[in-house]
Amino acid sequence: MLSIPIFEQPLFMNTIYIQLGSNMGERHFYIKESLLQIEKILGTIIYESKTYESSAWGVTEQRNFLNKVISVKSDFSAKDTLKTLQKIEDKLGRKRTEKWGERTIDLDILFYNNEIINTKELTIPHPYIQDRRFILMPFAEMNGKFIHPKLKKDIFALLKECKDTEKVSVYEI
Ligand code: AMP
Repeated sequence: MLSIPIFEQPLFMNTIYIQLGSNMGERHFYIKESLLQIEKILGTIIYESKTYESSAWGVTEQRNFLNKVISVKSDFSAKDTLKTLQKIEDKLGRKRTEKWGERTIDLDILFYNNEIINTKELTIPHPYIQDRRFILMPFAEMNGKFIHPKLKKDIFALLKECKDTEKVSVYEI
């Protein structure tokens, strides 16, 4: 059997899709800072969607969110990716209080390759992708033909079927 020497094997073998959201303080700063930290610790950002603005989902009377999705090439496991994102959230001052409450930065793993993962701390694909236009719209900009491994439909189809009525638009700085 032909074996490939370790030094010739690709270093970054996983594609990880991440959602970034902020609705507190200098929202744009928190997103930019998270991107820098992700590049520094997790891996190479392959695609960065435009920034989108959306009204707060699940709770009213909150400031609008800025959202973005990215794809990253990394050799981190899904578990280590979650730990890393939580460290970045903590570093940027996120307080884990009410569910869907205000946050300086929220970093969620949307997809990890085409894998389906269900553990105590991780649900991948992220369970709300199909319900939220603030995820589907930037994702469609990035890769509308990506097939959701559990629902077996692409992002364009999920966006068409999505019943979410929250306003989502490209954010101009
Ligand atoms: P949130 O408040 O939305 O940041 O949720 C944080 C919690 O969701 C953490 O305790 C994670 O363990 C859990 N979680 C489950 N699936 C995911 C995922 N795909 N991405 C990020 N956090 C997740």
